[in-house]
Amino acid sequence: MQKKYLPSLLLLAVLLTLLAFCGLRAQATVPAIGFADGKKVYLTFDDGPSTKVTARVLDTLKEEGVKATFFIVSDRVAGREEILKRTAAEGHTLGVHSASHRYDAIYASDEALLGDVDRCAEVIERVTGVTPHVYRFPGGGKGKTARERQTKLLEARGYRVVLWNAVCGDEEIPCASAEMLVAETEKTSAGKETVVLLLHDSAHHAATAEALPRIIAYYRSLGYTFCQF
Ligand SMILES: [Zn+2]
Repeated sequence: MQKKYLPSLLLLAVLLTLLAFCGLRAQATVPAIGFADGKKVYLTFDDGPSTKVTARVLDTLKEEGVKATFFIVSDRVAGREEILKRTAAEGHTLGVHSASHRYDAIYASDEALLGDVDRCAEVIERVTGVTPHVYRFPGGGKGKTARERQTKLLEARGYRVVLWNAVCGDEEIPCASAEMLVAETEKTSAGKETVVLLLHDSAHHAATAEALPRIIAYYRSLGYTFCQF
């Protein structure tokens, strides 16, 4: 090799090294950006199980390959044990919502609340073999002070207390159509990196089951990952 080519070769070697380094950096940063961008949505269903609506919700979740979280009202389980077992068997999370769902009884005292929680957890465990570890206050709790105090009591019992930051409107909008529920979902989820969406699967929420495929499609179109508690 002639000496006059040496500087050019050295320059080429430096350039190739730089290019390789940048290439590796680019490869490394692609998933990192995806991770940092990690939008998450938790679909949470309260007040079930019901026979038809819960079954339809489960059918949709199965078709879409999405897992969700169900906060159970255990006084509604009698006669619907199979649907509760199916919910657990299909990999969804079962959480405690309430035994009675009667606000006056549940919020009469801390002891009453904990008794209600225990009763609900016992039914979930007896029917499905699953020990629940998540909890949602019926009606969101009895005011901020009580909720904060009772959250500590529940956490001491091993529960993670789950609120919500978006709604589909199936309790807030009277007689809402599926279209209205999709619109409300989009409105209340807008701009949120992590969404905990409140939905209901009790018997009178057929419109929620009807809206669910479009709700899932909406989050999917925005690149959200579906999560469960
Ligand atoms: Zn409820």
